[in-house]
Amino acid sequence: MKKFDVLVIGAGPAGYVAAIRAAQLGKITACVDAWIGKDGKPALGGTCLNVGCIPSKAWLESSEYYYEVLHKLGAHGIRTGEVTLDVAAMAARKDKIVTTLTKGVESLFKKNKVEWIPGKARLLPGHKVGVTPTDGRGSGEETIEAEHIIIATGSAPRHIPNVLIDDKRIFESAGALDFTSVPRRLVIIGAGVIGLELGSVWKRLGSEVILLEAMDSFLAMADDQIALEAQKEFKRQGLDIRLGARVLSATAREDGVIVQYQDESGDHALECDKVIVAVGRKPMLQGLGAAEVGLELDERGYIHVDEHCGTNLPNVYAIGDVVRGPMLAHKGSEEGVMVAERIAGQETRLNHDTIPWVVYTAPEIAWVGKTEKQLKASARKYNTGVFPLAASGRAKAMGITSGLVKIIADAKTDRILGVHMIAPAASELIAEAVVAMEFGASAEDLSRIVHAHPSISEAVHEAALAVHKRTIHI
Ligand code: FAD
Ligand code: NAD
Repeated sequence: MKKFDVLVIGAGPAGYVAAIRAAQLGKITACVDAWIGKDGKPALGGTCLNVGCIPSKAWLESSEYYYEVLHKLGAHGIRTGEVTLDVAAMAARKDKIVTTLTKGVESLFKKNKVEWIPGKARLLPGHKVGVTPTDGRGSGEETIEAEHIIIATGSAPRHIPNVLIDDKRIFESAGALDFTSVPRRLVIIGAGVIGLELGSVWKRLGSEVILLEAMDSFLAMADDQIALEAQKEFKRQGLDIRLGARVLSATAREDGVIVQYQDESGDHALECDKVIVAVGRKPMLQGLGAAEVGLELDERGYIHVDEHCGTNLPNVYAIGDVVRGPMLAHKGSEEGVMVAERIAGQETRLNHDTIPWVVYTAPEIAWVGKTEKQLKASARKYNTGVFPLAASGRAKAMGITSGLVKIIADAKTDRILGVHMIAPAASELIAEAVVAMEFGASAEDLSRIVHAHPSISEAVHEAALAVHKRTIHI
């Protein structure tokens, strides 16, 4: 029987990072993963690299170029001839990026001496794991023993009643990353992060996009002011976002799909070419044998963990999407580092209060820390500073007229409690806010730091100044 110091189950961004870090720290490490790539062979990287973060960003990038050529270059005095769209070439570019990165993880495993075991794992009593191979190296289950087991099995899409995924007309996000043509009319169920990102892609490429969102409020997890600004901006871009829409059914036919939904004005039926279901994700526990070994779940069905990702079973840890907290790749990766380092005897901690969120629309939406709504609910006193991008010289030069940066600081101590933005490259700008918050900075601290001119980062500086009502440019 093979024996390891550390066995990681799942090679998504949580699992593969945990495995590499454990191996770096001298632990004999293996990683079991069940993912099968588009070529029918085992692939590393999990949801994020294969059907999540990376392919969606490749589509976002390509579609943004297409949109800019069609709609933005003219304002710069650039005239083009006929512009044609090659969706197959875009998809091939995306596939190449995915393969490069998944192969890259393979190389990292080799470099760090992590043993990759392609297979489906199930927990067995006594620190053992049964692995059914997925690479044709035999059909029988092999038993592996490990001193420490890290579960990083990720998540899978949620489904809704009467909406059957057929991958012809009705898709989950994974299938929607492989469209070979632009749907004329696309309905997306769920106006969350995936709905907005994929909706943006297909809208830019020419689809008529309707998003049906069950909740009455838009982008409920974001700060209200940012959500409102985003809603206005997406409306301007032509995304048809319908709130309070309860989908009753989606019926695929030869020539399209009929989507029936209900809102406060009554029952409605929509005809479209394709439907994407993006109503959230659930922890992936299928076949893991959690109940058989007594692994405790929380009330929402995630693996129950303490602040250091320890489960109720000794030396068994769980990280990433399969445990509480936001379903974000970087959150899983940092949990992986923490667990690997703690196994190696270090005292590593992870600050869950400074995990940044990004929605990769145009402009991007990003935030870290508390929203005003959360602070009001906890009765904490705070000040806010807001700077609209319309007043930024760099934004003007870029042709950006909407967007804002908002800083929320404690009323008494001035410590930054939250930073929220809708701005170009917000995914990069938010890093400054994360560093500031991690080091306990005040709005005053941020307002005393020199920011390059002209840059969008000046809006962060001005928002910090705005907390104390001393902005220069508004
Ligand atoms: P996963 O990436 O899901 O990996 C889990 C792995 O475990 C998989 O390979 C799976 O096959 C394997 N596995 C499961 N069960 C077993 C078993 N029993 N035995 C062996 N192997 C098993 N997050 C961001 O931070 N930024 C983004 O831009 C972003 N974009 C996204 C876009 C889309 C369309 C989607 C769907 C998600 C996106 N996410 C994004 C979320 C991100 O993909 C997840 O948070 C992240 O992948 C979670 O990492 P993980 O390692 O926990 O799980
Ligand atoms: P989400 O939770 O972001 O959004 C799902 C949306 O669907 C919600 O607004 C919800 O109210 C709505 N909904 C639920 N049931 C519905 C129904 N029956 N009818 C209509 N609407 C309904 O989830 P998602 O967009 O599926 O993404 C899944 C996860 O992947 C997210 O938690 C997110 O963290 C992660 N992700 C992150 C990024 C990123 O970081 N940029 C990108 C994509 C996905």
